[in-house]
Amino acid sequence: MKLFDTFARKKKIIGLASDEVKIYTCGPTVYDYAHIGNLRTYVAEDVIKRIIERKHRVKHVMNITDVGHLVSDSDSGEDKMELGAKREKKTAWEIANFYTEQFLADMEKLNIKKPSILCKATDHIKEMIYLVASLEKKGYTYLTEDGVYFDTSKFKDYGRLARLDKEGLEAGKRVDMGGKRNATDFALWKFSKEKRQMEWHSPWGIGFPGWHIECSAMAMKYLGKTLDIHAGGIDHIPVHHTNEIAQSEAATGKKFSKVWMHVAFILLEGKKISKSLGNYYTLSQLEEKGFSAAAFRYLCASSHYRSEMNFTLDGLRDSENALHTINDFYRRMKEIKGSGNENRKISAYEKKFWAALEDDANTPNALGALFGMARFANKNINSEKSARKIIEFLEDADKVFCFLESEETISDEEANMIKEREKMRKSGDYMASDEIRKKLAERGIYLEDAPEGTRWKKHEKR
Ligand code: AMP
Ligand code: ZN
Repeated sequence: MKLFDTFARKKKIIGLASDEVKIYTCGPTVYDYAHIGNLRTYVAEDVIKRIIERKHRVKHVMNITDVGHLVSDSDSGEDKMELGAKREKKTAWEIANFYTEQFLADMEKLNIKKPSILCKATDHIKEMIYLVASLEKKGYTYLTEDGVYFDTSKFKDYGRLARLDKEGLEAGKRVDMGGKRNATDFALWKFSKEKRQMEWHSPWGIGFPGWHIECSAMAMKYLGKTLDIHAGGIDHIPVHHTNEIAQSEAATGKKFSKVWMHVAFILLEGKKISKSLGNYYTLSQLEEKGFSAAAFRYLCASSHYRSEMNFTLDGLRDSENALHTINDFYRRMKEIKGSGNENRKISAYEKKFWAALEDDANTPNALGALFGMARFANKNINSEKSARKIIEFLEDADKVFCFLESEETISDEEANMIKEREKMRKSGDYMASDEIRKKLAERGIYLEDAPEGTRWKKHEKR
């Protein structure tokens, strides 16, 4: 599979060197519910992981940021965890536990596979201190009143990922630098100014780790010095990932990740998602509006992960209908019993589908091939052999998209009602047959009369 590498600004082949692909994805800061923007990133990462898993073993590590992520990315402002604790009058630890559970529940609903290792920052303070100490030994750090800082002027390639113009940044700095030597320097360890709920002893004083060092320490602990893919949202390019690269490569002298993969943002009705302005949805809020998590997953997959995506409820409704179309197609293929050979066009659509996914996870093109196949098959396929081939294809594609609904059933009583109704229709008693249609609809079973008999579905077009 080829994946776009933000660092090199080109597509690279994944998994050439070994059959195990090592992936690290930056996890959530668990101070609040995840919003649809965060969730888009996790869905996109899951889709890509599932494509890679078709051919390789994957070791996937994701962290839970439960300390050290400050309100501003430039090491200032309050810790988001302590802020959450104040807001809800709970301890920071309670906040972390609660929102971690909520996050995991969202993941399950969205069919996002659990990582091989899910690790909390607060369980790895020792590893972080060790990494900061090794940077100190190599001369990359300095102390201020505020904490231990990384001197970015000592790392030759600093800012390469984001193509940061360091001189421009330095010249344009107007912000209060505190004790920092360069505008881009960042905290590795911060001292507690007053008693905090989350704080630890360190060789430099009581305090807590910087957000960036968390990811480097945990990624390298579980995956070694060089990862195959490091992923996150595009907002991580200029600061978080830039700093992860600097401190990891300064410590090891090795390339930190072969590919840097970034997911573009979701806009909500054309506007930036903002928690403080209330301009966001959570997954539960979408469910309260009657939408399924599967529809949101499909919506994410229907646009390319590197394209900005505009979220609207109408768009989500379209996704739900597209899911119904795919599931109706799947069921219809199961009913085909005709003889005859396999239609060769089917494998052409199939090839196009997989080729699109292998080319930088081009999910919209893959879905285009799938719908092309459905249009063709609905008109031209009547042999069981071809239908079987399509069913197998859809079940295989489902391992990436998770779009097939579980087998739906109706009770014997409901099946009998449908049989009775067919008799009524044959004898021309349309009033009575309509009564049964209504009764079944009240139970969420919708009928469709076709020449070969009556079909039922458990959903209606919205
Ligand atoms: P956080 O919990 O703030 O650390 O963010 C979790 C993930 O969501 C990170 O990978 C972010 O880059 C990503 N993210 C944040 N906002 C958006 C958005 N509007 N669209 C897509 N991804 C986002
Ligand atoms: Zn990270």
